[in-house]
Amino acid sequence: MKKSQKTIKPNSNLTDDLPLSAEYLAPVDEISTAGVDIDVVPPQEDEFTCSQCFLVRHKSQLGKMDGKLSVCKDCI
Ligand SMILES: [Zn+2]
Repeated sequence: MKKSQKTIKPNSNLTDDLPLSAEYLAPVDEISTAGVDIDVVPPQEDEFTCSQCFLVRHKSQLGKMDGKLSVCKDCI
């Protein structure tokens, strides 16, 4: 059985400065919830929401803290 798993579409209407690079190529756990509005999925204890791409990332993907905002490695 074939099924398309890559149905992510960039929300370029939300963030014009979104880097359309590896962000959508990376295998993220949020595929099933991709396309939903921001802040719908609360991050788990070992996760954070990137303030740039608004994806919920694992803490291992944390690039830096910009004030109170977390920025993933893809966005710094
Ligand atoms: Zn990011």
